Amino acid sequence: MTALVLDGAAMAREVFAELTARVAALARRGLTPGLATVMVGDNAASRIYLRNKMKACGEVGLHAELHEMPADAREGAVLEKVRSLNANPAIHGMIVQLPLPKGLDAQQILQSIAIGKDVDGFNWANLGALVDGHVSLAPCTPLGVIDMLDRARIAIEGRHAVVIGRSSIVGKPLALMLIARGATVTVCNSKTPDLARFTRSADILVAAAGRARLVTADMVRPGAVVIDVGINRLPDGKLAGDVDYAAVSEVAGAISPVPGGVGRMTVAMLVANTVSAAERSIGK
Ligand code: NAD
Repeated sequence: MTALVLDGAAMAREVFAELTARVAALARRGLTPGLATVMVGDNAASRIYLRNKMKACGEVGLHAELHEMPADAREGAVLEKVRSLNANPAIHGMIVQLPLPKGLDAQQILQSIAIGKDVDGFNWANLGALVDGHVSLAPCTPLGVIDMLDRARIAIEGRHAVVIGRSSIVGKPLALMLIARGATVTVCNSKTPDLARFTRSADILVAAAGRARLVTADMVRPGAVVIDVGINRLPDGKLAGDVDYAAVSEVAGAISPVPGGVGRMTVAMLVANTVSAAERSIGK
């Protein structure tokens, strides 16, 4: 069997087309959604992500601004920057690019972003809403995974979903979203004994561990849907997911590639969250 490829780039284009229409409707009411990114210090990987995010905003018609601060910026200065963007009516969404330089308390800074502008969905209030099955501004990667399944018309209700990884920004919120959609969910982590015992029973397997080629073909039930969230830099400089793509695509029913999979949908969901935040700001 050769798996159906879940083409994140094509799906992200669909999302952008839908968002362009929503942005045009807002423009008719005199509103341009604005996204601000705060970047402290410099980081090559962060710059690549940022470029992709800014490009996506431009394509859809959003206003995007970058606020760069030096690596030795004091926490008070970063908090002040966040406060001023919280109060800026032209900004509807704000993200603080991670990782932050050592010495800065990332949680303190992330939690200071206004709940309604928290388009990364990392604020505890927005994360907490997921426990109640309420998706307002939710983390972009789990949102992207769910949207990818929906666009591919892959049923979630009644399926067994296995999520590898329990981070607060990917694994745990995704597990909550899958539960809300009626899946039976198993969440694995680095201490899980005999990982394959769990992954082999998955109808939907999501790998978000950050371990290159952790998921091999023998760990996948024939016909299962495999979503690869992982982004790992190999010694030769190439990118690889958490899934052995070539071998697993011979077993799985559907599979998302890296690059060109969930990463594209993550950026699309960030833009979608910003448009939603702008709509809510005028009571839509
Ligand atoms: P993290 O390091 O915070 O969490 C990793 C999780 O995986 C932990 O819960 C850990 O217990 C678990 N884990 C690690 N090794 C394991 C193993 N051998 N078996 C089972 N579980 C294991 O990472 P994160 O921020 O959740 O990101 C996970 C991966 O997803 C990374 O590769 C990251 O780069 C990628 N990522 C991709 C996107 C995207 O847009 N595609 C967005 C965010 C993160």
